[in-house]
Amino acid sequence: MTILDGKKIREELLEKYKEIIQEQDLNIVLAIIQIGDNSSSNTYVKNKVIYTKKVGIKTKVFKLPENLDENECITLINQLNNDSTITGILVQSPLPKQLDFKKLSRLILDSKDVDGLSKNNLFALRDNKEKIIPCTVKGILKIFDYYEISVEGKNIVIIGRSDIVGRPLADALINRNATITLCHSKTKNIEMYTSQADIVISAVGHPNLITKDMVKDQFIGIDVGINYVDGKLVGDFHENVKEKASYLTPVPGGVGPMTISMLIENLIELKRG
Ligand code: NAD
Repeated sequence: MTILDGKKIREELLEKYKEIIQEQDLNIVLAIIQIGDNSSSNTYVKNKVIYTKKVGIKTKVFKLPENLDENECITLINQLNNDSTITGILVQSPLPKQLDFKKLSRLILDSKDVDGLSKNNLFALRDNKEKIIPCTVKGILKIFDYYEISVEGKNIVIIGRSDIVGRPLADALINRNATITLCHSKTKNIEMYTSQADIVISAVGHPNLITKDMVKDQFIGIDVGINYVDGKLVGDFHENVKEKASYLTPVPGGVGPMTISMLIENLIELKRG
């Protein structure tokens, strides 16, 4: 079984990005809007600041109170849209209940949409004319490319239909001629689908959701899930899937490092215009 080593790919990519940013003298500034004090968001934002800094990108973090009114957030997004010193803007999820992540993300200008969530960027992906695509989706595609895993003609089951992972991932893989089944919380008998799949991608956030009796021999597993069990970081796959996998992403060290790398790649693309 081959471990799909996102951490190793990240280290190689960071070197490359650092060189590009230095050589082309790109002055990149990322604005991160974080609302509330969610512990996962604190970790995600901290990592984004650390890794962008490593390659010479500046960040401005707008940490706003939990009870923020929607209009105040809209005003901030508009200000950042109009600020020529800002290269990219992202709204960190999860958000407090009174705020609508989809609505707020779609207010970001296409030219600053580092997460690929604006209507035009999502439609371009749907239309097989990809521009900026969501970072986790792009990270998974990069893993396939790096390990020379062709998805064309493959039977791929994605579990999770969120706007940031499952749905855009389905579009991206259809663009690459894979056959896609998208499962979600209302899908009955998920194992009926996963047991037939060449590749299983889980983006749910439930530990041990996928076990070895649900997958076929030599399957390829991509684990997007982030869960904490007794203080330990785990994905959605049970340990025992290792017995059947041909390739597998670890958690930590698989998809996570790729997401942060693709954030940087998208920022470079936005800066170059
Ligand atoms: P989300 O909560 O928006 O979506 C979860 C999806 O899982 C939903 O579509 C839901 O229908 C489905 N689901 C819920 N319970 C299910 C079940 N029992 N069976 C099948 N499907 C079920 O989540 P999201 O933002 O897409 O994130 C999903 C997971 O991926 C989370 O653990 C998140 O932390 C993680 N994540 C990781 C990265 C990374 O870089 N590694 C990036 C984004 C998200």
